[in-house]
Amino acid sequence: MKIGFIGLGNMGAPMAANLAAAGHTVVGFDLAAPAPKGVSMADSGPDAAKGVDAVITMLPNGAILRAVANEIIPAMDAGALFVDCSTVDVESARAVAKQAVAAGLAPVDAPVSGGTTGAVGGTLTFMAGGPDDAFKRADPLFDIMGQKAVHCGPSGNGQAAKICNNMILGATMIATCEAFALADKLGLERQSMFDVVSTSSGYSWSMNAYCPAPGVGPQSPADNEYKPGFASELMLKDLRLSQQAAEAVDADTPMGERATALYAQFVEDEDGLGMDFSAMLPRFEKLGRS
Ligand code: NAD
Repeated sequence: MKIGFIGLGNMGAPMAANLAAAGHTVVGFDLAAPAPKGVSMADSGPDAAKGVDAVITMLPNGAILRAVANEIIPAMDAGALFVDCSTVDVESARAVAKQAVAAGLAPVDAPVSGGTTGAVGGTLTFMAGGPDDAFKRADPLFDIMGQKAVHCGPSGNGQAAKICNNMILGATMIATCEAFALADKLGLERQSMFDVVSTSSGYSWSMNAYCPAPGVGPQSPADNEYKPGFASELMLKDLRLSQQAAEAVDADTPMGERATALYAQFVEDEDGLGMDFSAMLPRFEKLGRS
């Protein structure tokens, strides 16, 4: 395929390089980032988007996605795929998909999980929304950039799945960290805490696969001074998207709301910026009840 790739940052660059390494012709555009390996660069978004079979975008947020979509949709050939892999608000994803369909394009919103390691290794998980035929056409590309793609329904549902997943993740990481800090104060060894919880009903991905306590459980950012991994500010972004969506559809999400407030405090008022999101544990260690 001939693919236009717009947004070649920490995630987009290795994803585009993997598509090129698999034999696709990839034309890239980014306001600032250099060309990834195997990718030739265009002078503008529309230049990268014209005459291609598929455009993939990997951009910071919904406002930028909407602006880029406004520019590139008129330049794209009718019938082309428009796959947005950014994490954005559900409303922007649905608005851009509607605009794409009106222009005769096949839209897929396909945010990812797996972070930069997954992007480099081609082991991302894609959560996709959009028409069946568009998903089927995008699936071979997901196969190259990732290890799993789940079609979650119509346009916007990929973003819905992503923010619901990350709302659970934010809340369970906080719960895991506060429980470790409580266990410390109760005189429970962290290894014992891990051995019990990881095989009992308190288990979760946060405890079992990404344990926030250094030296306990599998290797995780906690063993590397909480260098991300998944940065706290990215978790905050996703939690805020979950609350924006919850407000839009009048859903009661008290745990999501509390997790958002805690990560906002951690990132904006404390020392969480640039730290892995599991650094909530040393934060709780320092605090008492008040
Ligand atoms: P990044 O900031 O490294 O990359 C974004 C790129 O977009 C930058 O290179 C920037 O120059 C470019 N850009 C911005 N506006 C542009 C425009 N108008 N035209 C062309 N290029 C433009 O961010 P990232 O870490 O690669 O994340 C990208 C998306 O992936 C975000 O939505 C993020 O939430 C999501 N995501 C990131 C991770 C992660 O671990 N980094 C994990 C999952 C999902």
